[in-house]
Amino acid sequence: MLRIAVVGSGPSGVYAAQALVEQSAVPDVRVHILDRLPCPYGLVRYGVAPDHEKIKSLQNNLRTVLEDDRIEFLGNVEVGARGLGPQRLLELYHAVVYCVGAARDRRLGIPGEDLPGSHSATDFVSWYSAHPDAAPEPFTLGARTAVVIGVGNVAVDVARILARGADELRGTDVPEDALGALAASRVRDVHMVGRRGPSGAKFTTKELRELGALPSADVLVDPADLALETAYADPAAVPAIVRRNLTVVREWAARPPQGRPRRVHVRFFLRPVELLERDGRVGGVCFERTAPDGSGGVRGTGRYEVIEAQLVLRAVGYRGVPTEGLPFDADRGVVPNAAGRVLREGSCSPGEYVAGWIKRGPTGVIGTNRPCAKETVNSLLEDAAALGQRQVAADPEAALWAAGHRPVRWPGWLAIEEAETALGRTLGRPRVKIPDWTGLLDAAQAAASDRPDATR
Ligand code: NAP
Repeated sequence: MLRIAVVGSGPSGVYAAQALVEQSAVPDVRVHILDRLPCPYGLVRYGVAPDHEKIKSLQNNLRTVLEDDRIEFLGNVEVGARGLGPQRLLELYHAVVYCVGAARDRRLGIPGEDLPGSHSATDFVSWYSAHPDAAPEPFTLGARTAVVIGVGNVAVDVARILARGADELRGTDVPEDALGALAASRVRDVHMVGRRGPSGAKFTTKELRELGALPSADVLVDPADLALETAYADPAAVPAIVRRNLTVVREWAARPPQGRPRRVHVRFFLRPVELLERDGRVGGVCFERTAPDGSGGVRGTGRYEVIEAQLVLRAVGYRGVPTEGLPFDADRGVVPNAAGRVLREGSCSPGEYVAGWIKRGPTGVIGTNRPCAKETVNSLLEDAAALGQRQVAADPEAALWAAGHRPVRWPGWLAIEEAETALGRTLGRPRVKIPDWTGLLDAAQAAASDRPDATR
Protein backbone atom coordinates (compact mmCIF):
# COMPACT_ATOMS: atom_id res chain seq x y z
CA MET A 1 0.00 0.00 0.00
CA LEU A 2 1.20 3.49 -0.87
CA ARG A 3 0.36 6.01 1.87
CA ILE A 4 0.25 9.59 0.74
CA ALA A 5 -0.33 12.84 2.60
CA VAL A 6 -1.88 15.74 0.73
CA VAL A 7 -1.39 18.97 2.66
CA GLY A 8 -4.31 21.32 2.04
CA SER A 9 -7.94 20.49 1.22
CA GLY A 10 -8.64 23.25 -1.29
CA PRO A 11 -9.38 22.40 -4.93
CA SER A 12 -5.79 21.50 -5.81
CA GLY A 13 -5.48 19.17 -2.79
CA VAL A 14 -8.79 17.47 -3.47
CA TYR A 15 -8.06 17.12 -7.20
CA ALA A 16 -4.65 15.62 -6.33
CA ALA A 17 -6.28 13.11 -3.96
CA GLN A 18 -8.87 12.25 -6.60
CA ALA A 19 -6.22 11.69 -9.27
CA LEU A 20 -4.29 9.49 -6.84
CA VAL A 21 -7.15 7.11 -6.04
CA GLU A 22 -8.70 7.07 -9.51
CA GLN A 23 -5.60 5.97 -11.40
CA SER A 24 -5.00 2.33 -12.17
CA ALA A 25 -1.21 2.21 -12.54
CA VAL A 26 -0.53 1.81 -8.81
CA PRO A 27 -2.96 -0.34 -6.82
CA ASP A 28 -4.02 0.41 -3.25
CA VAL A 29 -3.22 4.04 -2.68
CA ARG A 30 -4.46 5.59 0.57
CA VAL A 31 -4.55 9.35 1.07
CA HIS A 32 -4.72 11.48 4.18
CA ILE A 33 -5.70 15.06 3.40
CA LEU A 34 -4.30 17.21 6.20
CA ASP A 35 -5.62 20.72 6.72
CA ARG A 36 -4.72 23.33 9.32
CA LEU A 37 -8.39 24.31 9.53
CA PRO A 38 -11.13 22.04 10.86
CA CYS A 39 -13.07 22.70 7.63
CA PRO A 40 -12.26 21.45 4.13
CA TYR A 41 -12.39 23.15 0.70
CA GLY A 42 -9.79 25.94 1.14
CA LEU A 43 -10.59 29.00 -0.93
CA VAL A 44 -13.88 27.51 -2.13
CA ARG A 45 -15.10 27.96 1.45
CA TYR A 46 -12.92 30.91 2.46
CA GLY A 47 -12.33 32.81 -0.78
CA VAL A 48 -15.22 32.40 -3.21
CA ALA A 49 -17.63 35.25 -2.50
CA PRO A 50 -20.81 34.30 -0.59
CA ASP A 51 -23.05 35.53 -3.41
CA HIS A 52 -21.33 33.20 -5.91
CA GLU A 53 -23.51 30.24 -4.99
CA LYS A 54 -22.89 28.44 -8.25
CA ILE A 55 -19.12 28.38 -7.78
CA LYS A 56 -19.59 27.53 -4.10
CA SER A 57 -21.69 24.53 -5.11
CA LEU A 58 -18.46 23.04 -6.39
CA GLN A 59 -18.12 21.93 -2.78
CA ASN A 60 -20.54 19.13 -3.66
CA ASN A 61 -18.06 17.71 -6.18
CA LEU A 62 -15.19 18.07 -3.74
CA ARG A 63 -17.29 16.40 -1.03
CA THR A 64 -17.81 13.30 -3.18
CA VAL A 65 -14.04 12.92 -3.42
CA LEU A 66 -13.51 13.44 0.30
CA GLU A 67 -16.09 10.76 1.08
CA ASP A 68 -14.16 8.14 -0.91
CA ASP A 69 -13.16 5.23 1.36
CA ARG A 70 -9.54 5.52 0.28
CA ILE A 71 -9.33 9.17 1.34
CA GLU A 72 -9.38 10.46 4.92
CA PHE A 73 -9.87 14.15 5.76
CA LEU A 74 -7.88 15.14 8.86
CA GLY A 75 -8.59 18.78 9.69
CA ASN A 76 -7.11 20.80 12.55
CA VAL A 77 -3.65 19.36 11.75
CA GLU A 78 -1.07 22.06 11.23
CA VAL A 79 2.01 21.10 9.29
CA GLY A 80 4.88 22.90 11.00
CA ALA A 81 3.35 22.51 14.48
CA ARG A 82 4.22 19.85 17.09
CA GLY A 83 7.22 18.62 15.16
CA LEU A 84 5.18 17.87 12.02
CA GLY A 85 7.59 19.38 9.50
CA PRO A 86 8.41 18.05 6.02
CA GLN A 87 11.04 15.71 7.48
CA ARG A 88 8.58 14.09 9.88
CA LEU A 89 5.92 13.79 7.17
CA LEU A 90 8.36 11.77 5.10
CA GLU A 91 8.73 9.37 8.06
CA LEU A 92 4.95 8.93 8.17
CA TYR A 93 4.04 8.77 4.46
CA HIS A 94 5.60 7.40 1.28
CA ALA A 95 4.98 10.76 -0.39
CA VAL A 96 3.66 14.21 0.50
CA VAL A 97 1.88 16.55 -1.92
CA TYR A 98 1.84 20.15 -0.71
CA CYS A 99 -1.24 22.02 -1.93
CA VAL A 100 -1.04 24.91 0.49
CA GLY A 101 -2.04 27.71 -1.88
CA ALA A 102 -0.90 31.31 -1.61
CA ALA A 103 -2.04 32.59 1.75
CA ARG A 104 -0.77 36.18 1.83
CA ASP A 105 -1.54 39.35 -0.05
CA ARG A 106 1.04 41.03 -2.24
CA ARG A 107 2.27 44.41 -1.01
CA LEU A 108 2.13 47.70 -2.87
CA GLY A 109 5.37 48.99 -1.33
CA ILE A 110 4.23 52.61 -1.23
CA PRO A 111 4.01 55.10 1.67
CA GLY A 112 0.89 54.94 3.82
CA GLU A 113 0.08 51.32 2.97
CA ASP A 114 -0.28 50.39 6.65
CA LEU A 115 -2.39 53.34 7.76
CA PRO A 116 -5.54 52.43 9.71
CA GLY A 117 -8.34 52.04 7.20
CA SER A 118 -6.05 50.44 4.59
CA HIS A 119 -6.50 46.68 4.38
CA SER A 120 -5.57 43.88 2.07
CA ALA A 121 -8.56 42.58 0.14
CA THR A 122 -7.51 39.17 1.47
CA ASP A 123 -8.35 40.34 5.01
CA PHE A 124 -11.69 41.71 3.89
CA VAL A 125 -12.50 38.46 2.06
CA SER A 126 -11.47 36.42 5.13
CA TRP A 127 -13.76 38.55 7.29
CA TYR A 128 -16.90 38.17 5.19
CA SER A 129 -16.05 34.49 4.57
CA ALA A 130 -15.87 33.77 8.35
CA HIS A 131 -12.26 32.58 8.26
CA PRO A 132 -11.44 31.71 11.88
CA ASP A 133 -8.13 33.61 11.66
CA ALA A 134 -9.81 36.85 10.52
CA ALA A 135 -9.43 39.68 13.02
CA PRO A 136 -12.37 39.48 15.43
CA GLU A 137 -13.16 43.19 15.37
CA PRO A 138 -15.58 43.83 12.53
CA PHE A 139 -14.73 45.98 9.56
CA THR A 140 -16.30 49.28 10.50
CA LEU A 141 -17.74 50.52 7.28
CA GLY A 142 -18.22 54.09 8.45
CA ALA A 143 -16.39 55.30 5.35
CA ARG A 144 -18.41 57.06 2.67
CA THR A 145 -15.93 56.32 -0.08
CA ALA A 146 -13.77 53.26 -0.64
CA VAL A 147 -10.92 52.72 -3.07
CA VAL A 148 -10.16 49.21 -4.29
CA ILE A 149 -6.68 49.05 -5.83
CA GLY A 150 -6.37 46.49 -8.64
CA VAL A 151 -8.67 45.26 -11.39
CA GLY A 152 -8.54 41.48 -10.98
CA ASN A 153 -11.42 39.23 -9.95
CA VAL A 154 -10.71 39.71 -6.25
CA ALA A 155 -11.05 43.48 -6.75
CA VAL A 156 -14.38 42.87 -8.50
CA ASP A 157 -15.51 40.60 -5.63
CA VAL A 158 -14.76 43.10 -2.88
CA ALA A 159 -16.15 46.05 -4.86
CA ARG A 160 -19.34 44.07 -5.45
CA ILE A 161 -19.73 43.08 -1.77
CA LEU A 162 -19.26 46.73 -0.74
CA ALA A 163 -21.79 47.86 -3.34
CA ARG A 164 -24.43 45.23 -2.62
CA GLY A 165 -27.11 45.93 -0.07
CA ALA A 166 -26.94 43.60 2.95
CA ASP A 167 -30.44 42.41 2.09
CA GLU A 168 -29.02 40.86 -1.06
CA LEU A 169 -26.60 38.84 1.09
CA ARG A 170 -29.05 37.69 3.76
CA GLY A 171 -29.79 34.49 1.82
CA THR A 172 -26.08 33.53 1.73
CA ASP A 173 -23.92 31.93 4.43
CA VAL A 174 -22.14 35.22 5.25
CA PRO A 175 -21.54 35.33 9.04
CA GLU A 176 -24.06 37.27 11.08
CA ASP A 177 -21.61 39.93 12.38
CA ALA A 178 -20.35 40.71 8.89
CA LEU A 179 -23.92 40.93 7.62
CA GLY A 180 -24.72 43.39 10.42
CA ALA A 181 -21.67 45.52 9.60
CA LEU A 182 -22.55 45.50 5.89
CA ALA A 183 -26.14 46.48 6.73
CA ALA A 184 -24.81 49.45 8.73
CA SER A 185 -22.26 50.36 6.04
CA ARG A 186 -22.25 54.03 4.97
CA VAL A 187 -20.12 53.34 1.90
CA ARG A 188 -21.78 54.95 -1.11
CA ASP A 189 -18.93 55.30 -3.61
CA VAL A 190 -16.48 52.55 -4.49
CA HIS A 191 -13.59 53.32 -6.87
CA MET A 192 -11.99 50.24 -8.44
CA VAL A 193 -8.73 51.42 -9.95
CA GLY A 194 -6.33 49.81 -12.44
CA ARG A 195 -2.84 51.03 -13.26
CA ARG A 196 -3.20 49.92 -16.88
CA GLY A 197 -6.04 50.26 -19.36
CA PRO A 198 -9.09 48.02 -19.61
CA SER A 199 -7.29 45.82 -22.15
CA GLY A 200 -4.71 45.00 -19.46
CA ALA A 201 -7.23 44.28 -16.70
CA LYS A 202 -7.24 40.80 -15.15
CA PHE A 203 -10.96 40.53 -14.44
CA THR A 204 -13.09 38.11 -16.45
CA THR A 205 -16.15 39.26 -18.38
CA LYS A 206 -18.74 37.26 -16.44
CA GLU A 207 -17.60 38.79 -13.14
CA LEU A 208 -17.47 42.23 -14.74
CA ARG A 209 -21.01 41.99 -16.11
CA GLU A 210 -22.27 40.94 -12.69
CA LEU A 211 -20.95 44.20 -11.27
CA GLY A 212 -23.05 46.09 -13.81
CA ALA A 213 -26.18 44.15 -12.90
CA LEU A 214 -26.34 45.01 -9.20
CA PRO A 215 -29.80 46.29 -8.30
CA SER A 216 -28.46 48.82 -5.79
CA ALA A 217 -25.45 50.32 -7.59
CA ASP A 218 -24.67 52.24 -10.75
CA VAL A 219 -21.40 51.47 -12.51
CA LEU A 220 -19.64 54.49 -13.93
CA VAL A 221 -16.73 54.58 -16.39
CA ASP A 222 -15.01 57.82 -17.34
CA PRO A 223 -14.85 58.05 -21.17
CA ALA A 224 -11.58 59.98 -20.76
CA ASP A 225 -9.98 56.82 -19.28
CA LEU A 226 -11.14 54.79 -22.27
CA ALA A 227 -9.87 57.35 -24.72
CA LEU A 228 -6.34 56.51 -23.58
CA GLU A 229 -6.73 52.86 -24.57
CA THR A 230 -4.52 52.28 -27.58
CA ALA A 231 -3.21 48.80 -26.83
CA TYR A 232 -4.72 47.22 -29.93
CA ALA A 233 -4.51 49.39 -33.03
CA ASP A 234 -5.62 46.39 -35.08
CA PRO A 235 -9.08 45.29 -33.81
CA ALA A 236 -8.55 41.84 -35.33
CA ALA A 237 -5.61 41.28 -32.97
CA VAL A 238 -7.66 41.80 -29.83
CA PRO A 239 -7.97 38.53 -27.85
CA ALA A 240 -11.60 37.46 -27.31
CA ILE A 241 -11.60 37.99 -23.54
CA VAL A 242 -10.19 41.51 -23.93
CA ARG A 243 -12.72 42.31 -26.64
CA ARG A 244 -15.57 41.21 -24.38
CA ASN A 245 -14.23 43.22 -21.44
CA LEU A 246 -13.82 46.30 -23.65
CA THR A 247 -17.39 45.93 -24.88
CA VAL A 248 -18.68 45.91 -21.30
CA VAL A 249 -16.72 48.94 -20.12
CA ARG A 250 -17.62 50.88 -23.29
CA GLU A 251 -21.30 50.13 -22.67
CA TRP A 252 -20.93 51.42 -19.14
CA ALA A 253 -19.14 54.58 -20.28
CA ALA A 254 -22.09 55.35 -22.54
CA ARG A 255 -24.74 54.57 -19.93
CA PRO A 256 -26.18 57.41 -17.86
CA PRO A 257 -26.39 56.77 -14.08
CA GLN A 258 -29.74 55.42 -12.91
CA GLY A 259 -29.73 57.19 -9.52
CA ARG A 260 -29.17 54.00 -7.52
CA PRO A 261 -28.05 54.41 -3.89
CA ARG A 262 -24.43 53.34 -4.49
CA ARG A 263 -21.93 53.92 -7.25
CA VAL A 264 -18.99 51.81 -8.46
CA HIS A 265 -16.49 53.93 -10.39
CA VAL A 266 -14.28 51.76 -12.58
CA ARG A 267 -11.08 53.70 -13.28
CA PHE A 268 -8.03 53.00 -15.43
CA PHE A 269 -4.51 54.35 -16.10
CA LEU A 270 -3.95 55.36 -12.46
CA ARG A 271 -0.93 54.03 -10.58
CA PRO A 272 -1.04 54.32 -6.77
CA VAL A 273 1.91 56.27 -5.39
CA GLU A 274 0.88 57.06 -1.81
CA LEU A 275 -1.92 56.51 0.68
CA LEU A 276 -2.63 59.86 2.28
CA GLU A 277 -3.18 60.35 5.99
CA ARG A 278 -5.99 62.39 7.55
CA ASP A 279 -6.34 62.47 11.35
CA GLY A 280 -4.23 59.34 11.82
CA ARG A 281 -6.16 57.26 9.27
CA VAL A 282 -6.22 56.84 5.56
CA GLY A 283 -7.93 59.80 3.93
CA GLY A 284 -7.24 59.24 0.25
CA VAL A 285 -5.00 57.72 -2.37
CA CYS A 286 -2.67 59.72 -4.59
CA PHE A 287 -2.38 58.20 -8.07
CA GLU A 288 -0.09 59.08 -10.94
CA ARG A 289 -1.85 59.18 -14.28
CA THR A 290 -0.26 56.66 -16.63
CA ALA A 291 -0.35 56.30 -20.40
CA PRO A 292 0.37 53.41 -22.76
CA ASP A 293 4.11 53.07 -23.39
CA GLY A 294 3.62 51.58 -26.86
CA SER A 295 4.89 48.12 -25.91
CA GLY A 296 1.99 46.80 -23.86
CA GLY A 297 2.90 48.49 -20.58
CA VAL A 298 2.36 51.95 -19.16
CA ARG A 299 4.58 54.87 -18.22
CA GLY A 300 4.07 57.62 -15.67
CA THR A 301 3.02 61.03 -16.97
CA GLY A 302 4.00 63.19 -13.98
CA ARG A 303 0.36 64.17 -13.51
CA TYR A 304 -1.33 63.19 -10.27
CA GLU A 305 -4.88 62.66 -9.07
CA VAL A 306 -6.14 62.20 -5.52
CA ILE A 307 -9.22 60.13 -4.74
CA GLU A 308 -10.48 60.92 -1.26
CA ALA A 309 -11.39 57.70 0.56
CA GLN A 310 -11.66 56.56 4.15
CA LEU A 311 -11.35 52.87 3.30
CA VAL A 312 -8.75 51.34 0.99
CA LEU A 313 -8.70 47.68 -0.03
CA ARG A 314 -5.54 46.51 -1.78
CA ALA A 315 -6.50 43.76 -4.24
CA VAL A 316 -3.18 43.33 -6.02
CA GLY A 317 -2.84 39.57 -5.90
CA TYR A 318 -1.98 36.75 -3.54
CA ARG A 319 1.44 35.48 -2.57
CA GLY A 320 2.71 32.07 -1.45
CA VAL A 321 4.12 31.68 2.05
CA PRO A 322 7.15 29.49 2.81
CA THR A 323 6.60 26.24 4.72
CA GLU A 324 9.47 25.78 7.17
CA GLY A 325 11.72 23.00 5.96
CA LEU A 326 10.59 23.25 2.32
CA PRO A 327 12.54 25.19 -0.32
CA PHE A 328 10.95 28.45 -1.44
CA ASP A 329 11.48 30.79 -4.36
CA ALA A 330 10.92 34.12 -2.64
CA ASP A 331 10.82 36.07 -5.92
CA ARG A 332 7.97 34.03 -7.37
CA GLY A 333 6.34 32.99 -4.07
CA VAL A 334 6.33 29.31 -5.07
CA VAL A 335 8.11 26.08 -4.13
CA PRO A 336 10.66 25.36 -6.88
CA ASN A 337 9.55 22.24 -8.74
CA ALA A 338 9.78 20.29 -11.96
CA ALA A 339 6.34 19.09 -13.11
CA GLY A 340 5.31 19.05 -9.43
CA ARG A 341 8.45 17.35 -8.04
CA VAL A 342 9.94 19.55 -5.32
CA LEU A 343 13.46 20.69 -6.19
CA ARG A 344 16.04 20.95 -3.42
CA GLU A 345 19.15 22.73 -4.68
CA GLY A 346 18.15 21.89 -8.22
CA SER A 347 17.53 18.16 -7.67
CA CYS A 348 14.20 16.36 -7.25
CA SER A 349 13.56 15.60 -3.60
CA PRO A 350 12.26 12.01 -3.31
CA GLY A 351 8.70 11.86 -1.97
CA GLU A 352 7.98 15.61 -2.04
CA TYR A 353 5.54 17.19 -4.50
CA VAL A 354 3.50 20.38 -4.96
CA ALA A 355 0.30 21.29 -6.78
CA GLY A 356 -1.89 24.37 -7.15
CA TRP A 357 -0.90 27.96 -6.43
CA ILE A 358 2.19 27.04 -4.37
CA LYS A 359 3.42 25.20 -7.51
CA ARG A 360 2.60 27.66 -10.28
CA GLY A 361 1.65 30.95 -8.56
CA PRO A 362 -1.76 32.49 -7.83
CA THR A 363 -3.33 32.42 -11.27
CA GLY A 364 -6.17 30.72 -13.07
CA VAL A 365 -9.68 29.68 -12.14
CA ILE A 366 -10.57 26.79 -9.85
CA GLY A 367 -10.68 24.34 -12.78
CA THR A 368 -7.06 25.19 -13.66
CA ASN A 369 -6.08 23.21 -10.58
CA ARG A 370 -7.33 19.94 -12.02
CA PRO A 371 -4.73 19.53 -14.82
CA CYS A 372 -2.13 21.07 -12.52
CA ALA A 373 -2.78 18.40 -9.86
CA LYS A 374 -2.91 15.69 -12.51
CA GLU A 375 0.54 16.62 -13.79
CA THR A 376 1.93 16.37 -10.26
CA VAL A 377 0.23 13.03 -9.63
CA ASN A 378 1.62 11.68 -12.90
CA SER A 379 5.11 12.60 -11.69
CA LEU A 380 4.43 10.87 -8.38
CA LEU A 381 3.14 7.73 -10.08
CA GLU A 382 6.25 7.56 -12.24
CA ASP A 383 8.24 7.54 -9.00
CA ALA A 384 5.92 5.08 -7.23
CA ALA A 385 8.16 2.04 -7.35
CA ALA A 386 10.96 3.83 -5.54
CA LEU A 387 8.57 5.56 -3.14
CA GLY A 388 7.04 2.22 -2.14
CA GLN A 389 10.46 1.03 -0.92
CA ARG A 390 10.62 3.73 1.73
CA GLN A 391 10.00 2.58 5.35
CA VAL A 392 7.15 4.58 6.86
CA ALA A 393 5.00 4.44 10.02
CA ALA A 394 2.31 1.75 10.03
CA ASP A 395 -0.37 4.11 11.38
CA PRO A 396 0.37 7.75 10.60
CA GLU A 397 -2.82 9.00 12.24
CA ALA A 398 -1.81 7.35 15.53
CA ALA A 399 1.53 9.13 15.23
CA LEU A 400 -0.29 12.44 14.79
CA TRP A 401 -2.29 11.78 17.95
CA ALA A 402 0.84 10.78 19.85
CA ALA A 403 2.44 14.09 18.85
CA GLY A 404 -0.52 16.02 20.31
CA HIS A 405 -2.52 16.73 17.12
CA ARG A 406 -6.28 16.37 17.50
CA PRO A 407 -7.57 15.80 13.99
CA VAL A 408 -11.11 16.72 13.05
CA ARG A 409 -12.22 13.79 10.93
CA TRP A 410 -15.02 13.76 8.38
CA PRO A 411 -17.83 13.22 10.93
CA GLY A 412 -16.49 16.26 12.81
CA TRP A 413 -16.78 18.35 9.67
CA LEU A 414 -20.32 17.08 9.06
CA ALA A 415 -21.15 18.13 12.64
CA ILE A 416 -19.84 21.64 11.84
CA GLU A 417 -22.10 21.74 8.79
CA GLU A 418 -25.06 20.71 10.93
CA ALA A 419 -24.25 23.35 13.54
CA GLU A 420 -24.10 26.01 10.80
CA THR A 421 -27.48 24.93 9.47
CA ALA A 422 -28.91 25.03 13.00
CA LEU A 423 -27.43 28.52 13.52
CA GLY A 424 -29.06 29.68 10.30
CA ARG A 425 -32.39 28.30 11.48
CA THR A 426 -32.23 30.32 14.72
CA LEU A 427 -31.46 33.47 12.70
CA GLY A 428 -34.18 32.91 10.12
CA ARG A 429 -31.53 32.42 7.43
CA PRO A 430 -30.24 29.43 5.50
CA ARG A 431 -26.96 28.05 6.73
CA VAL A 432 -24.75 30.66 8.48
CA LYS A 433 -21.01 30.16 8.86
CA ILE A 434 -19.37 29.85 12.28
CA PRO A 435 -16.56 32.42 12.32
CA ASP A 436 -14.28 31.36 15.20
CA TRP A 437 -12.03 28.48 16.20
CA THR A 438 -13.85 27.74 19.46
CA GLY A 439 -17.23 27.56 17.75
CA LEU A 440 -15.89 25.31 14.99
CA LEU A 441 -14.06 22.93 17.32
CA ASP A 442 -16.99 22.77 19.77
CA ALA A 443 -19.28 21.87 16.88
CA ALA A 444 -16.84 19.20 15.62
CA GLN A 445 -16.60 17.80 19.14
CA ALA A 446 -20.23 16.67 18.86
CA ALA A 447 -19.09 13.98 16.43
CA ALA A 448 -15.87 13.02 18.17
CA SER A 449 -16.78 9.44 18.95
CA ASP A 450 -14.01 7.17 17.83
CA ARG A 451 -11.11 8.77 19.66
CA PRO A 452 -11.17 10.22 23.16
CA ASP A 453 -11.22 14.01 23.31
CA ALA A 454 -11.18 13.95 19.55
CA THR A 455 -11.08 17.62 18.60
CA ARG A 456 -8.94 19.34 21.20
P1 NAP B 1 -4.85 39.16 -10.25
O1 NAP B 1 -5.82 38.56 -11.17
O2 NAP B 1 -3.41 38.88 -10.45
O3 NAP B 1 -5.09 40.77 -10.29
C1 NAP B 1 -4.25 41.61 -9.55
C2 NAP B 1 -4.52 43.05 -9.95
O4 NAP B 1 -3.69 43.89 -9.13
C3 NAP B 1 -4.16 43.39 -11.40
O5 NAP B 1 -5.07 44.34 -11.88
C4 NAP B 1 -2.76 44.00 -11.24
O6 NAP B 1 -2.42 44.91 -12.26
C5 NAP B 1 -2.94 44.77 -9.98
N1 NAP B 1 -1.68 45.11 -9.33
C6 NAP B 1 -0.65 44.28 -9.01
N2 NAP B 1 0.35 45.00 -8.43
C7 NAP B 1 -0.06 46.29 -8.42
C8 NAP B 1 0.51 47.50 -7.97
N3 NAP B 1 1.72 47.50 -7.38
N4 NAP B 1 -0.18 48.64 -8.11
C9 NAP B 1 -1.41 48.64 -8.68
N5 NAP B 1 -2.01 47.53 -9.15
C10 NAP B 1 -1.34 46.36 -9.01
O7 NAP B 1 -5.12 38.74 -8.72
P2 NAP B 1 -6.47 38.51 -7.90
O8 NAP B 1 -7.53 39.45 -8.29
O9 NAP B 1 -6.02 38.44 -6.48
O10 NAP B 1 -6.93 37.05 -8.35
C11 NAP B 1 -6.09 35.90 -8.10
C12 NAP B 1 -6.63 34.71 -8.90
O11 NAP B 1 -7.88 34.28 -8.36
C13 NAP B 1 -6.89 35.05 -10.36
O12 NAP B 1 -6.53 33.97 -11.16
C14 NAP B 1 -8.40 35.27 -10.39
O13 NAP B 1 -8.99 35.08 -11.65
C15 NAP B 1 -8.86 34.24 -9.37
N6 NAP B 1 -10.19 34.61 -8.85
C16 NAP B 1 -11.26 34.23 -9.57
C17 NAP B 1 -12.53 34.60 -9.15
C18 NAP B 1 -13.71 34.18 -9.98
O14 NAP B 1 -13.55 33.41 -10.92
N7 NAP B 1 -14.90 34.68 -9.70
C19 NAP B 1 -12.71 35.36 -8.00
C20 NAP B 1 -11.58 35.75 -7.28
C21 NAP B 1 -10.32 35.37 -7.73
P3 NAP B 1 -1.33 44.51 -13.40
O15 NAP B 1 -2.05 43.56 -14.29
O16 NAP B 1 -1.01 45.82 -14.02
O17 NAP B 1 -0.18 43.87 -12.69
